[in-house]
Amino acid sequence: MTAKQPATLAVHVGNEPDPTTGAVAPPLHLSTTFRHGPAGERSAGYEYQREGNPTNDRLREALMALEGGKQAMTFASGMAAMTTLLECLPNGARVLFPDDCYTGLRMLFEEFLPERGIQATVVDMADLDAVRAACTTPLAMLWIETPSNPLMKVADIAALAEIGHRAGATVVVDNTFATPLLQRPLALGADIVMHSTTKYFGGHSDVLGGALVFAEDDALAHKVAHRLHVTGAVLAPFSAWLTLRGCRSLGARMAMHCANARKVADFLATHPAVERVNWPGLSIHPGHDIAARQMRDFGGMMSIQLRGGREAALAMAGKLHLFTNATSLGGCESLVEHRASVEGANPRSPQNLLRLSVGLEDGDDLIADLAQALS
Ligand SMILES: *Cc1c(COP(=O)(O)O)cnc(C)c1O
Repeated sequence: MTAKQPATLAVHVGNEPDPTTGAVAPPLHLSTTFRHGPAGERSAGYEYQREGNPTNDRLREALMALEGGKQAMTFASGMAAMTTLLECLPNGARVLFPDDCYTGLRMLFEEFLPERGIQATVVDMADLDAVRAACTTPLAMLWIETPSNPLMKVADIAALAEIGHRAGATVVVDNTFATPLLQRPLALGADIVMHSTTKYFGGHSDVLGGALVFAEDDALAHKVAHRLHVTGAVLAPFSAWLTLRGCRSLGARMAMHCANARKVADFLATHPAVERVNWPGLSIHPGHDIAARQMRDFGGMMSIQLRGGREAALAMAGKLHLFTNATSLGGCESLVEHRASVEGANPRSPQNLLRLSVGLEDGDDLIADLAQALS
């Protein structure tokens, strides 16, 4: 394909008309098994669904084109992608994780990785000196999440990739919040991009999935693919098909998520009840300059902190109509969540914080809803 712009790639790659029927929408292949020859010869490249199927391959093609990678794997969920990758680390490896990150990742490195002697060091990825200091001993992996959940901290991917590589680490970026429409970590030096495709890729809050995209089709990519095919946390074909369908509108949706988020952030930033708006598009955000350099636009996720503390945050969440109280993000509908209430026994998020997934409703309607909830 000659087109290079991500919105065009999102519409076309993996969505080519079916060569046998001309069908413009991709066929959904549910077959678990594929005919082979008497000595196991694969006639069309497929054998058994766990090891690959044509619908999944279309999604893998789309992911590789969008992220600019040479290999990709799809998984049953974002957590399955993360877990399968981390299971490929040797016992006792050292890994750097971000201090602000997806709760599932924190649970992996606090509860599960220590069982294999994997040492997780937690650092503020926005503080390059702190990362350099933590990188001195041999390091297996540097994990970046930018913008991060839920504080929306911005990490400098190019600078961190350089620091991580000097320590011999594989550099991974969780690109779920930004999507490749806004940020392409492999072009900035990262080795692997991870996605929860449950979020913006699926885009309609109705399909769970995860992905890894590798800059190179290298030994680690082969190791992860082999582990996935044997251990089996694969994406179901129907889920791949729905995710591919989400891909087609990803460019248009991201543009509108970003435009709505700008309107919402500008409104909330000047509201007297709001202490702070964490959205990298605001010039007062500490990571704004880096975000402006490494992102095309600033995304639809933000968090806000209210002057009235926990009570004010819960009151606001209870009064919103267009923003539904629910976890997850990246769907058409706007969502709000008091993170501290859903983070278990030891919540990390500030008690006055609400996370917003700004959806595709009319921006002025969203502002009117926020205004009434704050009044
Ligand atoms: C949701 C999410 C995940 C986990 O993905 P699942 O599909 O829910 O397993 C990982 N990272 C980020 C940033 C997420 O938002």
